[in-house]
Amino acid sequence: MTTEQTNTQTNTQIDVESFRLEARAWIEANLEPRTHGVLAGRVDSEAKSPEDIARARALQRRLYDGGFAGISYPVEYGGRGLSSLHERAFNEEALGYVTPDFGAAGGVTFGAIGRSLLAHCPPAFLQRHIPRILSGEELWCQFYSEPEAGSDLAGIRTRAVRDGERWIISGSKIWSSGAYLADWAMCLARTDWTVPKHRGLTWFALPTDAKGVTIRQIQQINGNAEFCEEFLDEVEVTDDDIIGEVNKGWAVTQTMLVYERGAGEMGAATVEPRSLAPDLVELARRVGRTADPAARQAIARAHINDYAQYHLGHRIADRLRASATPDPAVAAYGKLASGVLAPIRARLAMEVGGPAALAWAGGDEEAGRTALNYLNGRVTSIAAGTNEMQRNGIGERVLGLPREPSFDTNKPFNEVLNSARHFDSKVG
Ligand SMILES: Cc1cc2nc3c(=O)[nH]c(=O)nc-3n(C[C@H](O)[C@H](O)[C@H](O)COP(=O)(O)OP(=O)(O)OC[C@H]3O[C@@H](n4cnc5c(N)ncnc54)[C@H](O)[C@@H]3O)c2cc1C
Repeated sequence: MTTEQTNTQTNTQIDVESFRLEARAWIEANLEPRTHGVLAGRVDSEAKSPEDIARARALQRRLYDGGFAGISYPVEYGGRGLSSLHERAFNEEALGYVTPDFGAAGGVTFGAIGRSLLAHCPPAFLQRHIPRILSGEELWCQFYSEPEAGSDLAGIRTRAVRDGERWIISGSKIWSSGAYLADWAMCLARTDWTVPKHRGLTWFALPTDAKGVTIRQIQQINGNAEFCEEFLDEVEVTDDDIIGEVNKGWAVTQTMLVYERGAGEMGAATVEPRSLAPDLVELARRVGRTADPAARQAIARAHINDYAQYHLGHRIADRLRASATPDPAVAAYGKLASGVLAPIRARLAMEVGGPAALAWAGGDEEAGRTALNYLNGRVTSIAAGTNEMQRNGIGERVLGLPREPSFDTNKPFNEVLNSARHFDSKVG
């Protein structure tokens, strides 16, 4: 039975409004109100400490025990078996309360990773991992990008070699969000070098504390170290750790990326921006520019962008909900919109903040946020596929434009590498 089928059957058990009331009562009794509001356009990428993660795990356990973790996950794996609309209702009710914050690793664990596992793993695998994910015991991260393979993800060179029932994985990965705190990684490796690049790939579940795994945090321009690079030196996993099918990893990749590009948020679409860009109004007040026409223009533009993005998000969510398998080309629109609008919004905040956003007294974290947000503003234009790659996808799959020319798509990958080596030695 597919996840959609399970959900449809149990969806009838409670309508969204009754569920909302149940959620509201539980939230009021069990969660603490937030001291700061959630502000639109804020792009946090702060590294979490082990203490932050321990707190988040305890809170996640409370949600799980209360029946509010994995609201749209199947009941047999510890979820509630309800729809994405129920999930959205819970998120709306919980907005003013402290909920588990695992940083970047949390978003991918409960979104792209959990959904990919549900879509591609057998029941025994799901029984082993999903209840532990929903209860906060297992935090996951993604090992897919490599120093020489980002946009061209099918060109990865990490290898997994079969040895009886074991697989030996060697290679290096980079840009893994939150890997330094994760318990497990979803790792993409090449298992057949004699076929074209998209056809020889397999995903594995890999414990981050396995022998042969070295994880190093990367220092970012904003002072954080949220991303990691990994070195995999003959790491052993087994057949039980395979996600999807051997050499058919590209299908899993597509599922993962479509959720990472926003399909998973179809139930939790951003809150309607009823009031005028509250974070920017607060900033204008703080720097004494509420009457300044330039600041007012910037706030109005941000508000218009927020509204456009909110309604686009809803239209995309409706389209995605209408199909059993979320369409990557539809998800690309939402991803592209946030990749384009987030940097604009971050720049508008700098305009409102003026000189005060450029220099502030040491230790004044709140004052430094505008500049930090500006630096983080590019995140969504790169993560999970750059703006250019979303445009390529929309051009080819929606508009029917000719495919991008490619010299290596149909060639066995080992031949591609040989040709590249040959070309390098000729040029060198
Ligand atoms: C916030 C964040 C979180 C991330 N988290 C993870 C993670 O958890 N795990 C993980 O494995 N990776 C992660 N990544 C890595 C991310 O997936 C890659 O950065 C992304 O896929 C781009 O790859 P690249 O950085 O190698 O850029 P490149 O692929 O080298 O691209 C460089 C430039 O060339 C352009 N370009 C490349 N190919 C084309 C083309 N065919 N047509 C047009 N333009 C093209 C790109 O748009 C870009 O502007 C994360 C990245 C960010 C920013």
